[in-house]
Amino acid sequence: MKLSQKARCLTPSEPRRVYDVAQQYSGVIDLTLGDPDLPPPLNIREAASRATLDGDTRYSANAGLIELRRAIAAESRREYALDFDPENEIIVTAGAMEAAYLALWTLLDPGDEVIIPAPHWINYGEVVRSFGATPVFVDTLPEDRFVVRPEEVEKRITPKTRLLVVNTPGNPTGAVIPGDVLDRLAAIAVKHDLAVVSDEIYSHLAYDGRRVGSILTRPGMRERTVIVNGFSKRYAMTGYRVGWSLGPAELVQVMTQMTENVVACAPLPSQYAAIEALSDRTDESYIRVEFEKRRNCVLEELRTIPEISCPGIDAAFYGFLDVSGTGMSGEEFVMELLKRKQVALIHGTAYGSRTYRNFVRIAFTVDCGKLRAAFARIREFLRER
Ligand code: PMP
Repeated sequence: MKLSQKARCLTPSEPRRVYDVAQQYSGVIDLTLGDPDLPPPLNIREAASRATLDGDTRYSANAGLIELRRAIAAESRREYALDFDPENEIIVTAGAMEAAYLALWTLLDPGDEVIIPAPHWINYGEVVRSFGATPVFVDTLPEDRFVVRPEEVEKRITPKTRLLVVNTPGNPTGAVIPGDVLDRLAAIAVKHDLAVVSDEIYSHLAYDGRRVGSILTRPGMRERTVIVNGFSKRYAMTGYRVGWSLGPAELVQVMTQMTENVVACAPLPSQYAAIEALSDRTDESYIRVEFEKRRNCVLEELRTIPEISCPGIDAAFYGFLDVSGTGMSGEEFVMELLKRKQVALIHGTAYGSRTYRNFVRIAFTVDCGKLRAAFARIREFLRER
């Protein structure tokens, strides 16, 4: 069957390729996927079950249950001190993935350019390309803790630039963009009349008491920012497939119209679970506490391996590690380590250009015991070489 040009421009997923190779071995410690292994708080799981048992199992409005949109509006007021109208400035989506997809679909025409700081969450590049638009990557560096330099963003703006993607804290680096950098990025967006997609899905998983700021609260940003967020990471609810987007009414209304053609609405029992998640009955703090413990464990183990360096991990559950001291490229490191010691990581070029050929990403979505075992295997691997 002849496939569309769009279909043919999708790149095969590198993480999926590593995952498939990993399936050939037994006893693999899998540090590839950003899928938390912790259960969501019990009251959230109960709310989903109750919805199912009570027969709340049908479609909802395309934009999601109004009670959930109201809860998201209240959460947004706490977060940004801004008001969003639940009737037309908020849409509930099937995960942050659908929020990002709908936002980009609504904003981009073929030929538009989109600036994406790298290394980046793979979906942004793929989705932009699938709409016939062009991702323009701005590499960030470990010496900057992978925080984008605003002057590097500005240098890449052309008359075709339509949009800037901001992801803080970031996947795959765990980098948090400081407030003064958000100020400068916002000023650039205003000056060049760019739309901004701000992906804040990791904003509640920041460590050492850090507060994560948003570009949305900067002057001139309310009318040009689309927020992408969700329940997957903060509440460990990946399988529920529920997220949301906030933005100007004319944009959210088109996203809402479009979702009728994609999923119609987020799964209804998940929407009830999400209402419960945002209620004051929920205490999800154990999730952040556990990931902070694991982050500490990863950094402690890394100090025993001088061949691998990392500028720090301020948030999320990823570390982006420079393995050049081992004499191997990231891809060699990943494939050899998997073959010899059955520890699965992802090579850095999955998330960006050749700049990251000596990097690997670790996702610490297993407990400290397994993490320590993985690092013992890595030390053994390096000793035996
Ligand atoms: N944004 C980023 C940066 C992510 O890393 C992910 C998941 N890996 C998502 C969005 C999507 O999350 P979900 O669709 O599960 O809400």
